[in-house]
Amino acid sequence: MKARTRFAPSPTGELHIGGVRTAIFSWLLAKHTGGEFYLRIEDTDQERYVPGSTRRILESFDWLGITLDGGPDHEELRAMKTNEDYPGALEDGEYKGVPGPFVQSHRLHLYKQWAEWLVEHGYAYRANETPEELQRMREEAQARKQTFIFREEMRLRPDVRPDEPHVIRMRVLPRDGRTEFDDLIKGRVSFDNAQVDDQVLLKMDGFPTYHLAVVVDDHLQGVTHVLRGDDWLPSAPKHVLLYRYFGWPEPQWAHVPNVLGTDGKKLSKRHGAQSVFEFRDQGYIPEALINFLALLGWAPGGGDEQNVFTREELIAKFSMAGVGSSPAVFDYNKLDWLNGVHIRRLSPDDLAERLVPFLARAGVSVDTPEKRALLRRIVPHIQERTKKLTDAAPLVDFFFGDIQTPPAEMLIGPKMEQPLALHALRETRRVVASVEPFEDAPLEQAMRALCEALGLKPTQLFTIVRNAVTGKSVTPPLFATMAILGRETCLTRLDRAIARLQASA
Ligand code: GLU
Repeated sequence: MKARTRFAPSPTGELHIGGVRTAIFSWLLAKHTGGEFYLRIEDTDQERYVPGSTRRILESFDWLGITLDGGPDHEELRAMKTNEDYPGALEDGEYKGVPGPFVQSHRLHLYKQWAEWLVEHGYAYRANETPEELQRMREEAQARKQTFIFREEMRLRPDVRPDEPHVIRMRVLPRDGRTEFDDLIKGRVSFDNAQVDDQVLLKMDGFPTYHLAVVVDDHLQGVTHVLRGDDWLPSAPKHVLLYRYFGWPEPQWAHVPNVLGTDGKKLSKRHGAQSVFEFRDQGYIPEALINFLALLGWAPGGGDEQNVFTREELIAKFSMAGVGSSPAVFDYNKLDWLNGVHIRRLSPDDLAERLVPFLARAGVSVDTPEKRALLRRIVPHIQERTKKLTDAAPLVDFFFGDIQTPPAEMLIGPKMEQPLALHALRETRRVVASVEPFEDAPLEQAMRALCEALGLKPTQLFTIVRNAVTGKSVTPPLFATMAILGRETCLTRLDRAIARLQASA
C-alpha cells in the first residue's frame, strides 16, 4: 500500500532536529512504499508565528535533499507576512495528487464547515466562557484537587446563539466509555473518556485549534499514516473520536519516542546544535545527517548490522516494524564518525565544492578558477582526515596564502642541534632545487636518500621540512604537499627558514 505522510510543523522558529528525525521517518515510509510525503504548515496559533520560519523549513528540506510532494507556495508565504519569496516554491492547489492549500490559515473555511457539521450532528456544541471565567473554573478544580475537564453542563450561558461570539467544543462521547486504538509503535492504547476534555475545536477568532485542523487536513489530504512525536499521544483520543464522529477512515497512528541526549535528558540546547542549519554550519553533510537521524530509533532488524546507508538504501530498507519503542539517544560521536564516512564517499571534486564556503568563512578564499583547480588537487590528500567540513581550513590554508616563517625552535628537529638542522635544511634546499620531476614520488625518494646521507631519522628531517614549508606541524602528507606547493614556493619558504635559523645562532 502506498503511504501518504506529512510533516506538519508550526512555523515558530528553526526546525528542531528531533522533529526532523520524525519527518525523516515519514519521508522514508512514503518513499519506501512509492507514496507521497508533503509539508503542511500549521499556523493556527498566530501568536507564536515567527516570520521567515516557513522559508527556513523549506530550505532545510532542500539542503537535506528531501523532495516534497506538496507544500506551501510563495504566494502563501508572502501572505504570511514573511516578506520573502521562495524560488523553489511549489504550486498552490493540488500537487502530485495532494490537495492544497498547504498552510492552515488558508483553509479556515474548511475547519468552519466541519465544526458546524459536528454541531449539527450532535458531536459538538457552542460555548462562550471567557478566558477569565475558564481560569476561575480551573482554579476551583485545582482547589478540589481535580483535573479541570470541561463539560457541556458547566457552561455559564447554555443558550449560545450562532451569531454571537463563541467557540465550538467537541462532545467527548460516550462520557463513561474508553477510547481505544492501535498505534504502530505503542501497540493498543486506551484512554478513559472521563479524562478527555471537551476540547475547543474552533476559536472565537474563527481559527481552528490544532485538534480540529489536524484531523480535517489529514483526512482531506489523504494521509494514511500519522507519524508524530509521542508527546502528542494524550491528544490522540480526541482525534480518534473526531474521525469516528465524521465517519472517516482512521489513518494508522505512530507516536514516535523522543530523542534524548547521552545524559538521558530530552535533547536540548545544552547537548549541542538544535537546528538543521546549525548542523550544516558545523560542517556536517546532509548524507550523514540523514543517515544518523534515520538510525535514531530505527534499525533494519533481522540481524542486519548495517550502519552506513545512502538515501536510496534507507528508502529500500525502511519499515515501521524497525522503529523501536524506547527513546533514542543522540550520540555526537556516532554522528562525527558517520560524517567522516560519508565525506570519504564523496568524489574529491564534490568535496572540494562543498569546502569552498567553509574555507571562505575561515578566511581562505577560493574564488578563482586557478584556486578551484588547486583545491581539487589538494582534496584527495585531506579527504581521509576530514571528519567535518570545518576541519579542512587549517589543513589547506598555507596553499592559498603566504605563511609566517616559523620560529627557530620549530626548525630544529628532535634530538638535533642548530648547526645540524641548518645543514639539513640547506641540503634539503639543494634537493628541492634539483629533483626532477618535481613530484611526490621522486621527492620522497630523494629526501629519504638525504636522511641516510645525513644519518638522520626520517621524522627528524621531515618534521623540520614540514614546518619550514607549511608553517605547521599537521598537514596533508609532506611530499604531496610539497609537490602541490611547487618548487618555487618551497624554495622561497626554505630560504626564509634557513635565514631565520642562521640568525638564531
Ligand atoms: N503542528 C504540530 C507540531 O508542531 C504537528 C503535530 C503533528 O504532526 O500532528 O508539532
